[in-house]
Amino acid sequence: MEEKTTGQLLSEKLTYKSKNSFAGIDSEAVHSYCEGYKAFLDAGKTEREVVKETIAMISAQGYVPYTLGDKLVPGGKYYLNNRNKSLFMFRIGSEPIEEGIRITASHIDSPRVDFKPRPVYEDSEMCFFKTHYYGGIKKYQWTAIPLSLHGVICKKDGDVDVRIGDDESEPVFYINDLPPHLAQTQYEKTVGKAISGEQLNVLAGSQPYDDDKVSDKVKLQVLAALNEKYGCTEADLISAELCAVPAMKARDVGFDRSMIGSYGHDDRVCAYPSVTAMLESEDSAHTLLNIIADKEEVGSDGVSGMQCKLLADLIEEIALNLGGNPRVVRAHSKCLSADVNVAYDPNFPDVFEKRNSAMINHGVVLSKYTGSRGKSGTSDASAEFVSFVTKIFDDADVNWQMAELGKVDQGGGGTVAKFIASNNIDVIDLGVPVLSMHAPYEVVAKNDVYMTHKAIAAFYR
Ligand code: MN
Ligand code: MN
Repeated sequence: MEEKTTGQLLSEKLTYKSKNSFAGIDSEAVHSYCEGYKAFLDAGKTEREVVKETIAMISAQGYVPYTLGDKLVPGGKYYLNNRNKSLFMFRIGSEPIEEGIRITASHIDSPRVDFKPRPVYEDSEMCFFKTHYYGGIKKYQWTAIPLSLHGVICKKDGDVDVRIGDDESEPVFYINDLPPHLAQTQYEKTVGKAISGEQLNVLAGSQPYDDDKVSDKVKLQVLAALNEKYGCTEADLISAELCAVPAMKARDVGFDRSMIGSYGHDDRVCAYPSVTAMLESEDSAHTLLNIIADKEEVGSDGVSGMQCKLLADLIEEIALNLGGNPRVVRAHSKCLSADVNVAYDPNFPDVFEKRNSAMINHGVVLSKYTGSRGKSGTSDASAEFVSFVTKIFDDADVNWQMAELGKVDQGGGGTVAKFIASNNIDVIDLGVPVLSMHAPYEVVAKNDVYMTHKAIAAFYR
């Protein structure tokens, strides 16, 4: 081998480049880990389903239900199920509680199309459900794709879960779009206006009920089917929570199978690694808390969102049970706000500043700050905390990169980080780079999913 020049050696020493994680990675471990992730994606498409799925996973590892006020003991493994929509799993460590808690917070709600309280109607001998979309969607992307229905109907005689359209044997649902032949006017509209909110009506049936004495026969036929399957009436739908999501399953993408396509990677692609990392960290001396939250896509408001006081209450309960001062525990706690970031896309180079963008396969992405315009709404992690976290990752051989969400003036976004920071807890954003974020079918790189698991596990230790 030729000897390196002084310039080459100096360049190696002084310059920084994020690196592709394929070199030296255990590809078999990556693929097998991602099989588990794909199964997790298909099992839970809404926050309620993910909570259920996660409870099954962690119960098998000895986690037991906890409600505020219960007694806690060192070594104990617990989960607080918050209204079936968000979940706090925690494990009491061996070190004094005033050393603080290692926390990870991700979210399990994804953009989708929710049903209105009075959804069912008939028009031109077709039955539809009226919807009100949830989260940031590009509405035109949700037409002309197969949809499945999910949710819960709370009837006077009990609750019934709805899940139909994911299994090949079941029917799917659909939102109509115009054929190009008649889209002359639609073509002239801006992308944001090509399909309106009130056009996102879900096609649910076309067969009339066989009785000449009634009107709205197609609607009646659909109501009869709902009644037969779920025992519900139109009045029961008023309180129901139902939504339509893409019916597609998670699949490998590319000849090399290096990527995964799925609905709702944002943010189950961080929730899953946070759970697996926690289950793997049984030997950690720290007290660990893993939160999978709801309502992030609409601002984290409400009782199942991260702005709810439940986090502060839970930390206080943990502190008091173990003889610690809650304020001291919070001050010494540290958190990873685990949420996805936008991956650099060479098809749309104009919106990115490439040097500060996340590249797929370059590992878990850290973001010191988020926000829009002049960093508005950000929880800016301190230089000290960034360096604390990156040292942990370097020591554990975690491939990581630091990125912003796009060009300064192109928009922006936020995460739950600021709602954790408001509790006097140091927090930094970290996650997986995603292509086509918030589309019905998003893409991530398997290596990055695996690295996120590795990063959170290193932080928990
Ligand atoms: Mn997210
Ligand atoms: Mn999002």
